[in-house]
Amino acid sequence: MGIKRGEVGRARRLIEESESVAVLSHQNPDGDAFGSALGLGLMLRRAGLKVKVSWPDQIEPPQKYEFLPGKELLISHANLRPRGLVIAVDCANASRLGELEDAMLEANSIINIDHHPDNSMFGTVKLVDVDASATAEILYKEAGDLGLEMDRDIAVCLYTGLVTDTGRFQFSNTSAETFRIASELVELGADPNRLYEEIFQGDTLSYMRLTGELVSRAVFEPETGLVYVFMPQEELRRFGVEMNETEDLIDSLRTLREHRIAALFKEQDDGRIRVSLRSRADTDIGTVARSLGGGGHRAAAGYTSDKGSFEEALQELKGEIVAPRRDSGS
Ligand code: AMP
Ligand code: MN
Ligand code: MN
Repeated sequence: MGIKRGEVGRARRLIEESESVAVLSHQNPDGDAFGSALGLGLMLRRAGLKVKVSWPDQIEPPQKYEFLPGKELLISHANLRPRGLVIAVDCANASRLGELEDAMLEANSIINIDHHPDNSMFGTVKLVDVDASATAEILYKEAGDLGLEMDRDIAVCLYTGLVTDTGRFQFSNTSAETFRIASELVELGADPNRLYEEIFQGDTLSYMRLTGELVSRAVFEPETGLVYVFMPQEELRRFGVEMNETEDLIDSLRTLREHRIAALFKEQDDGRIRVSLRSRADTDIGTVARSLGGGGHRAAAGYTSDKGSFEEALQELKGEIVAPRRDSGS
């Protein structure tokens, strides 16, 4: 399902009629959230708008994303009062904006730019393409029709969104189109090796040690193909790691031979348990996350459990996972 050209025209008119804009992205931001929000923010500034970029978490990106251009556009959500135009990027629904949800809904106009299959189609104008590998891909493809221009810094931001959401161009959402866009971003000045070093060789020793601890405790269940581990708050403190550094931690469980589903249970500072889920191509984990009150893509999804303990949250998840069929000969 592609983006309607009429919607792009309406978005362009909203942008042209605006003097200022707030670009917002989702809580627990990932590389696509950072890259898309900052890349779009920089494009809108080039077009002459007064731009603020925010998300409902601490505004400083984790160290490995500190290289991203456009950080001068960032404003803490506590100081943001969006009125005129708001653009939400990489947000499947308004509640993904956490504490910014109410502020966004009060804005005059909302443009919703996203690639999640469960997008609720909130907002005044919707540029939602569920076939896009990343929100950054949509921004790249639609920039011209939105009246926006690229430069090297913007290419760096969009490449970051693309390379992180596609797992370095290896996840099932990677298409020939993704590579074409990546190639054009490289021609604009995004340097794949430099960005590899920034993003994927940017771990602190504390983070590496925490990863080692969690991997050494991981449990694998051959019957269901589930590999999982629980990360209590206390462990973050003990290793000296911030929660916002742990967005990619689940990838350390995904290299396991014959696993089908990877689950990372993270205790939040309010005691609730956030569950990150990943699956291999034939298993739809988005449906599982939705039935537990969350959402996401087929192969990458998440939710926050209502259960009070890790053990209960684990049982709840197992109850939703359908065992793989053993009669593979049929
Ligand atoms: P995460 O494991 O937090 O990186 O999330 C993986 C994917 O699932 C992302 O694309 C999110 O958009 C989606 N997701 C995670 N948590 C939620 C939630 N509570 N509600 C809706 N979507 C979620
Ligand atoms: Mn995201
Ligand atoms: Mn995304």
